[in-house]
Amino acid sequence: MLGLTIDHVTKRFGSFTAVDDISLAIEQGKFVCFLGPSGCGKTSLLRMIAGLEQPSEGRILFHDKDVTKLPAHERQFGMVFQSLALFPHLSVGDNIAYSLRLRGQDTKTRDARVAELLDLIRLPGIAKRAVSQLSGGQRQRVAIARALAQEPRLFLLDEPLSALDAKLREEMQVELRLLQQQLKITTILVTHDQREAMTLSDLIVVMAKGRVQQVGTPIEIYRNPVNRFVADFIGLSNLIEAKVLDAQTVGFDDHAVLVASMPAGLEAGAAVTLSVRPEDVRIARTDAANGTLSGAITFIRDVGATIEAHIDCGGREFVSVMAPRDWPGGAVHDLVTLELPPAACVVLPE
Ligand code: ATP
Repeated sequence: MLGLTIDHVTKRFGSFTAVDDISLAIEQGKFVCFLGPSGCGKTSLLRMIAGLEQPSEGRILFHDKDVTKLPAHERQFGMVFQSLALFPHLSVGDNIAYSLRLRGQDTKTRDARVAELLDLIRLPGIAKRAVSQLSGGQRQRVAIARALAQEPRLFLLDEPLSALDAKLREEMQVELRLLQQQLKITTILVTHDQREAMTLSDLIVVMAKGRVQQVGTPIEIYRNPVNRFVADFIGLSNLIEAKVLDAQTVGFDDHAVLVASMPAGLEAGAAVTLSVRPEDVRIARTDAANGTLSGAITFIRDVGATIEAHIDCGGREFVSVMAPRDWPGGAVHDLVTLELPPAACVVLPE
C-alpha cells in the first residue's frame, strides 16, 4: 500500500529553488532516508511533508488523501528534530505523556502508555527522573518515545543522532532500525551520513541541489550508482576518467578494462567515468611493470579488520581495501599489479 506520495513538489525561497520538482512514492511501513550534502533541500522537503512549510508547487498525499494544505497538527505525524529539545522542567514521563495530556487522557492511561514506551526504548522505570539526569543517548531515546506516544501515522526524523558521539550514534542507529521494524511505522529520516542511511534504510533517496539523483535500496545504490555524484557520495570509490572502446571495454592511459555491462546508447569514443569500489580492487605482488595495470604502493593503513593500500599507477591513484587474509604482503614503494574484475567495473556516462 502507498503511504506517502510526493507529487512534483517544488519549494522556492525568493528566487532560490531549494526543492526542485521532486516526485516520490513511499510504501507503507518502509524506512526511507533522504541523504545528501548540506543545503541539498532534505530538511525543506521533510518540513513540507510535516506541514511546517508549504510547497510553492506540487502536492503531498498521505494514503491517497491530499494533505498539502492540512495544518501540521492535524496530520498526526510524529517528529524528532535535532533542535527539538525535551522540556527541561518536566520529568521523563511528563515529557513523553505531553501530547496525551493535551488530548485529555486520564492519568492511568497516560502512565500505562509511558511505561510501555519506556520499555520499547529500553529505559524501563525512569519516568520520574529529571531530563537533566539523562545522557545524550538517553535524551534522544526519550525524544523518540515522546514522538511515538500519540501513535503517529508517519514518523519524521531530521538528523536525530547527529549530536551523539560516533559509537553511541552507531548503537542508536541499530536501535532505531529495530524499533521501526517492530512498530512497522512508515519512517523518513534526513541525514548527510551515508553510513547511517545504509544502516537504517529500506530505501535511500539521494539528493543534490534540490533534486533527486537516485532512489534505491542501499545495495542497489552502492553497487549501481547512476552517476558520478552518487558513486562519490555513497562510500568510497575509485573514479577514473575513461573512454568507451567498444561494447565491452573502456580505456584509460594505455589500459583497456573489460566491463560486465555498458549503459545503453554509448558509442565508441564517448567520455565516461569508471567507478570501482576499493574492496573490488585486487592487488598482487609483482617485480616489474609488464603491461598490466601496475604501480607502486604509496600508503598502507592497517586497522586490524581491513588493510587499505594506495597505489600510484603512472600518476593515477587507486585505493584497494581488503581483509588481512587477502593482503599479499609488502611495504610502501613495492610494486604491485591491480586487477579490476569486470562485474565490479561500473561505467557512468558523463
Ligand atoms: P542541512 O543538511 O545543512 O540541513 P538540507 O539539505 O537539509 O541541509 P535545507 O535546510 O532544506 O537543506 O536547505 C536547502 C537550501 O534552502 C539551503 O540553501 C538553505 O539555505 C535554503 N533555505 C532553507 N530554508 C530557507 C528559508 N526559510 N529561507 C531562505 N532559504 C532557505
